[in-house]
Order: sequence, then structure tokens, then C-alpha cells
Amino acid sequence: MSLNESRAAAVFTITNREATPVSKPESLDKIWATDVFTLVKMEEALSKTAFKAMKKTMQTGEPLDPATADDVAAAMKAWALSKGANYFAHVFYPMTAGTAEKHDSFIVSDASGRAVTEFDGGLLVKGEPDGSSFPNGGIRQTNAARGYTYWDPTSPAYILETDNGATLCIPSVFVSWTGEALDKKVPLLRSNKAMNEAGTKVLTLMGEGSVAPLNSSCGAEQEYFLVDSNFANMRPDLLLAGRTLFGAAPAKGQEFDDHYFGAIPQRVQQYMEDVEERLYKLGIPAKTRHNEVAPGQFEIAPYYEAANVAADHQQMLMTVLKNTAKKHGMTCLLHEKPFAGINGSGKHVNWSVGNSTQGNLLDPGSSPSENLNFLLFCGAVIRGVHKYGPLLRAVIASAGNDHRLGANEAPPAILSVYLGSEIEGIFEQIKKGSLDGATDTEMMDLDLSQIIPFAKDTGDRNRTSPFAFTGNRFEFRAVGSEQSVSGPLIAMNTMLADSLEWIAEKLEAELANNDDKSSAVVAVLKELMEEHGNAVFGGDGYSAEWHKMAVEERGLKNLPTTADALPCMNEDYIKDLFANTGVLSNIEVASRYEVYAEIYINSIAVEAKLVSDMAKTTIYPAAMGYLASLADTNAGLSEMGIAMDATVAKDVAGLSGDMMASVAKLNEAMAKEDFASTDEHMQFCAQDIRGYMDDVRAAADALEMEVADELWPLPKYAEMLFIK
Ligand code: ADP
Ligand code: MG
Repeated sequence: MSLNESRAAAVFTITNREATPVSKPESLDKIWATDVFTLVKMEEALSKTAFKAMKKTMQTGEPLDPATADDVAAAMKAWALSKGANYFAHVFYPMTAGTAEKHDSFIVSDASGRAVTEFDGGLLVKGEPDGSSFPNGGIRQTNAARGYTYWDPTSPAYILETDNGATLCIPSVFVSWTGEALDKKVPLLRSNKAMNEAGTKVLTLMGEGSVAPLNSSCGAEQEYFLVDSNFANMRPDLLLAGRTLFGAAPAKGQEFDDHYFGAIPQRVQQYMEDVEERLYKLGIPAKTRHNEVAPGQFEIAPYYEAANVAADHQQMLMTVLKNTAKKHGMTCLLHEKPFAGINGSGKHVNWSVGNSTQGNLLDPGSSPSENLNFLLFCGAVIRGVHKYGPLLRAVIASAGNDHRLGANEAPPAILSVYLGSEIEGIFEQIKKGSLDGATDTEMMDLDLSQIIPFAKDTGDRNRTSPFAFTGNRFEFRAVGSEQSVSGPLIAMNTMLADSLEWIAEKLEAELANNDDKSSAVVAVLKELMEEHGNAVFGGDGYSAEWHKMAVEERGLKNLPTTADALPCMNEDYIKDLFANTGVLSNIEVASRYEVYAEIYINSIAVEAKLVSDMAKTTIYPAAMGYLASLADTNAGLSEMGIAMDATVAKDVAGLSGDMMASVAKLNEAMAKEDFASTDEHMQFCAQDIRGYMDDVRAAADALEMEVADELWPLPKYAEMLFIK
């Protein structure tokens, strides 16, 4: 069967597929967190003293003593074996967006050759994967490639079921033998610590008597596409690059908006229920699900959790989405831009910080003192976005996300912050000094308490802002769908820590001269707004005027591609930010730059090679096949004395020639090796290579509109997007 016949066969197969048998979903209370080694399960299994120690460690991150670790390991092993798990794995998050795990069996043989199970505190706490194949950005030479995983007791262990067994998964950090972070969890934990220390200083200065540890929270909205696997498996671009590198726009796209919040197709509904059941067992609180803007696009959003746990859960969620899709005969595409001309996928990262004594500090609250704390933390975010905008852009930089951010879609590549008109108004007043030094506290209270009724109105939304206040949290909307949330969370926590330190210093000085807290706060925030207020923007972030104004008048950076964004990691002020907050050393930042740059360069290289291969071996032959059939027809017609119009044949021949000429240029560019620097290499990928790829595609997509449908080998956009 030729490829184009298989395309027809795929449509036939999907049309006649038998529905996946529906099993009534289990009730939530029966399945909730059954696969998680929760505090409740620990309490049942551990002695009182061991449980108390473990609980303290989970809540504060304090180290566990070896004896307790042995007790916990024994309890964990017993529970895992009872769940049918014969293996355990330290799960960690290397600098790629992925999840890594090394599986070990509980089984060992004893002196008499019998199989016994073994798992003690030592094995629980520390593992040594053969980590030499994980990117390390030059931190470890492979001849000294020791990397260790250490259990992160603040994120619960769980059972991961696969078709042929179950594994006890132990969330872990991954560090080099010299102690440098090789993963995304270590800096996330450190960033939280830095934010806690700085935030506590500010709250203490504000006269808060008791201040519990501050933690950041994250709720991530995940967008994705589903394509029937019969189609996806016929597209090497979808299989290897996760996005279509060719494909003409369908006659109907998303212009009617009829998919958005429309009825979820039954097949997809079953898939979602299956996904949710798996997530609930893993203790992941999936909460909302709906169709997204584009046909074939959907969203799932779990309820928010502590950032460290949410980040682990996010990784699991992506794995569950992909694995479950396979079971349902579909392919889940997490790529930021699977289909050109169709809305891309993002991951909105909702983020807030709070503790058990002051609550959510990004919630305006109902009393004047709560409002003052809120204004300080909100001001700290404004300063962070202004001062470290390029960093926020860099942590969401990837070849995939460039298709959204640099393009005319989704949030722009310029980092500004949207506050909503009421909060923006308050900060504008503070900046102008109308509240400055106001001894008239009545007026101040009035102004500040005005925040309350409006701020909670989430109707006040700006969908064109990359970073928006949404009533009691900030929503970082520019994050890509395939990315780990850790990078953004690390950047946000760290910039907040830095800003809160700055605020604490200023506030302390103000309070030394003036014990009226309100006027001290206003004085500090006035200075903050004068220096950093330029990042606040409530208008249309997509508009050309904003792009001009942001750069020319406000001095903000427009960084459309990864090649433009990543180099900021080598700048001193970014290295200082991470070093001063203790989140990443200079070496660790440098290694991250190397790793991310390499990932970018490699992903463009894979795509470029695919473009060349598919153009040469799939699309060109289809065009030639069509020309041959036109020539046959022409010969037949001329025997009958009928002249055939040659326009189509000429167009096809012309476009095929254009396409192959661009392929030749692309191949020549791909052979280039002599780059003065990694920065230059990335720019070459962003400009030259991607430029030639676009040229090849333009000709190929035009061919798709000319060549007889029955001869076209690749599943078309309309089929992949609309046939479910
Ligand atoms: P929308 O689509 O309107 O942006 P959703 O309800 O789909 O909103 O998702 C909002 C996300 O924000 C959810 O994950 C939710 O749990 C999370 N969230 C709500 N409050 C907070 C908060 N204080 N801190 C962090 N995340 C939050
Ligand atoms: Mg959202």
C-alpha cells in the first residue's frame, strides 16, 4: 500500500473504529491518592516519634536523621510491595524539560541464594544513576561523571503503574559529586528559601509578630492537542519534532470560535475521564477541563499546590496525558505550535506566595494592614518584572515557544505586567506622590481600601499581557505548553526575593525616621515605581504601538527568539541575582545557558533535517507523480485532438523547482560549522536555518493546494484537526 493509500485507509479506520469501552468512573473518595504515600499512610505505618520527625521534615525541609529514614524506608517498602511494586526509582528532573528515572529492584539474594527484598534509609535517601548522558553544561567531565540523586522528602513518593508492573517513585534532586545542581528541583527549592527569608524580613519590619514560613504556590493550566494516531504515525514531523513542518491551512480553521468551550467530543471526554482517574490516584487535583480555541485543542488545569509539589505533579501530568492518549488510539501533542496558522498551546503558570500566618500575600485582603503587605509584595513583583524581564523571557525560551512569543499570537515577547485598572490606579497615585507622606491617614485608608471590592473581580482581564494580576495571584501566560514550570517558578521566586530584600532595606531606613508605616510604605513604593513603573502596562500587548512604545519610550526589551533571549543569562546582573540570593552559582548559571542553547540548536537541527528529508522523499515524489499523470492525460487527450491547458503542470513544476532550490540552500546552511560563539550559532539557527525551512515549506504548502488529493501522501490539516 502506498503512503497516499494509507492516508485514505487511516480515514477509513478511524471512521469505523469501535468506541473505547466505557467503564463507569470510580468515585473520587475511593481512588483519591491511593497511589501516593501520604502523611495519613505514614501515620498509620510509623511509630509516633518517627512520624513526628517525618512530618516536620515534610513541612520544613529539615534533614531526617538516619534512624527515622530507615523506619520510613521500611514502611514505604511494605506499602509499595502491597501495591504490587517490585521496583523503586529515584525520579528527577534534569535540565531538559523531561523527567528521568532509574529503576532498581527491591530484590537481592541473600547468602543462601534466596531472594529477599531490601530497602533501607540509605537506599531511600541517596541514589546514583549513571548520569553521564544527562546534559550538564560542562559541569561534569564524563570521566568524573558522578551525579547523585537525593530524596526530596517534601514531595510525596508514589506508585507509577505501567502495563506490566508498578514502580515506587521517589521524587529526588540531582546534583554533581561536587554539589552543583544538575536539575530543576534544587534551584526551585533554593529560590523558595530565598523568597522566604526576604519576605520574612519585610513582614517583620511591618510589625507582624509571628511569621510562618512563606511558600510559593503554583496552579498550571495545560493546553494540548489530540490527533488520531493513525494520522500522527504517518507524519514523521509529528513523530520526531512534535509539530507539523508542512501542511496547508484548511478551508475552515478556528475563525468561527465554535470549538471554544463547545461540547467535548465523546471520544475525548472518555480520554479525559481516564486521565483524571489516573491523576486522582496520584493525588493530582485535576479540576477544570474544556475545549480550547483551536479545533482539536483542549485544556486541563489542576488546583494549585505548593510550587515544589505542583512542579512534580506537572511533570507527571504531562506523562499521563501522553501515555493515556496512546491507550485511546490518539497522540497527545504538547508542542507549543503543532499547526501553523492555528492557535498554539501555552501553559499559564498561576503563582502566588503566602504562609499560614499572613495568608496569601498577593491577596489585597480586607484590612488596611493587609493592604499594605499586599502593596509591598505586589510592588516587589513589579520591580522584578521590570528589572528581570529578559530573564523571564529567557526561562520560557525554546524553539517551540518562539512560534508563539515572537509571532503575532499569544503573549508578546516583551515582558510587562498587567495589574488591572484599580490596582494600577493606586500605584500611579503612589508614583505621583499623591499618597506620599500623607499624614492624612483617613484619606490613605480610604484609597487603600478601595482596592478590595475591585481587585477580586476577575472579569477585569487582559488576555494580551504576558504577566497579569488576576485578583489574588499573578498569571505568567507566556510559558510554553511543553515546558517544565520549574524555570518560570525559579525566576519568579528569585526576582521576588531580590525585590523584597531591596524593599526591606529601604523600609528599614524609612521606618528609622518615621514610625508611620503607611507613609513609610508609600515612600518606598514611590521610589520603586519611579524606577520600575515602566513595566506596568494595561493596554493591548499585541498592538504595533505597544511594541514601538515599549522599546523606544519605556526601554523594555523585545526578545522575539530564543537566540535573542538566552544570552541574558551571561550578563552580570543576572549572574549576580542568582549568586546573591544563593539560588544558582555563576558556574551553575553558565552551565544552564550551555544546556539550553544546545537544546535549542539541536531541536532546530532535527527540524531542518526533517524538512529536507520530507521535501525530498515524500513531497517531491508526490509532485512528480502528479506531473506524470498530467503528462499521461495530455498524451491521451492530444491523441483525441484535444489540447490540455498546461497552467497547472507549469505551476507544479515551478513550485517543485523552487522547493528543491530552497532545500539545497537549507542543506548548505546546515553544513556550516564555524561559529565564533554559541550566541552566533543560535542566531544563525533563528535567522538563516529557520528562514530556509520557511521557504521550503511555503513551496511545499502551495504544492499541497495543487497536487491531486488522492496523490497527496501526508494527512492534511483538516483531517488531523477535525476527524476524531
Ligand atoms: P483561567 O482559565 O480563568 O485563567 P482556571 O480556573 O482555568 O483560570 O485556572 C486557574 C488556575 O489558577 C488553577 O490552577 C487554580 O487552582 C490556580 N489558582 C487559583 N488561586 C491561586 C493562587 N492563589 N495561587 C496560585 N494559583 C492559584
Ligand atoms: Mg488562565
